[in-house]
Amino acid sequence: MAVPQRRISKTRKRLRRTHFKLNVTGLVTCPQCGAMIKAHHVCPKCGYYAGKPVYLNGKLVKEEKAEKKAPAKKAPAKKSAKKEEK
Ligand SMILES: [Zn+2]
Repeated sequence: MAVPQRRISKTRKRLRRTHFKLNVTGLVTCPQCGAMIKAHHVCPKCGYYAGKPVYLNGKLVKEEKAEKKAPAKKAPAKKSAKKEEK
């Protein structure tokens, strides 16, 4: 069995072990409040996600997309109504 020719000094050992470290992954700073948060998650500190409020004072902020989608559905119906008139 191979045996080390001489003892590794404290310094050599410690220099080698400088690379033995854990690095924090998946954490980013919140652009709204600057807290360390999980990437692709709503900030638990300020409740913002992608620059928009999702939770404010513990309550869910309703999105305006539902209102925008409603007129879009009505528009094709008008076209079909015109075709029926012809
Ligand atoms: Zn935040």
